[in-house]
Amino acid sequence: MIRPMIGRDSQFFWDGTQVGELRIQTCNACGDLRFPPGPACPACGAFDRGHVVAAGTGTVFSYVVHRHPPVPGKELPIVIALIDLDEGVRMVGEVVDVGDEEIEIGMPLRVDWNRVDDELTLPVWRRA
Ligand code: ZN
Repeated sequence: MIRPMIGRDSQFFWDGTQVGELRIQTCNACGDLRFPPGPACPACGAFDRGHVVAAGTGTVFSYVVHRHPPVPGKELPIVIALIDLDEGVRMVGEVVDVGDEEIEIGMPLRVDWNRVDDELTLPVWRRA
């Protein structure tokens, strides 16, 4: 399977998934939440960053049903959604146990965890 790139800016996120926390980067200077994580705050430019733990709930903003080409370690089709978290940031994620005919914009979702191995736990989304 394809593993995510884990770097200095995203380490906190993957440390969170390991313990069942969906973490959102926050700016310690102005309090702005951001996703994807990065070194500086797009709102105020500060480098002082922290994180909050999201409730793990949101709604489908948009989605694609991926049918081709093949994805290593995946049975197609898979549903990939842009999810508006209740905290106000938008995140991309795989939606599981929702058919490609059932997924719809506005569908409420909740996060769940796909423990791949000792080093990697991926967030996945299920119908709330
Ligand atoms: Zn800021």
